[in-house]
Amino acid sequence: MFNTKARREFINITPDIEECIRESGIKEGLLLCNSMHITSSVFINDDESGLHKDFEIFLEKLAPEKPYSQYYHNGYEDNADAHLKRTIMGREVVVAITDGKLDFGPWEQIFYGEFDGKRVKRVLVKIIGE
Ligand code: ZN
Repeated sequence: MFNTKARREFINITPDIEECIRESGIKEGLLLCNSMHITSSVFINDDESGLHKDFEIFLEKLAPEKPYSQYYHNGYEDNADAHLKRTIMGREVVVAITDGKLDFGPWEQIFYGEFDGKRVKRVLVKIIGE
């Protein structure tokens, strides 16, 4: 569960996911992690602060938060940009588990991307294997 202080935030959730795998005891299998909300994402990329600023700038160019009036969705909401950003950054990740560990490529980390924060949000983790 997350409750971000800012409207938009990226959180590295890799340690939490690794804890879930440890608890499961699964050595060979698949991990699914998805956001339970249509205004936040789960995605894989580098844990590098410059890149995270680049994501923010890139997403604001494609779907700027303001003016709110530019979106049809913003009748009694103001989060149309968050829906669009979530669609760009994706809903879920699936990662192989090998020898009890996330089978990542170099620098891969799992992030929760919040685009309409300051309220409680959840991600789902499902692990299958043996
Ligand atoms: Zn909405």
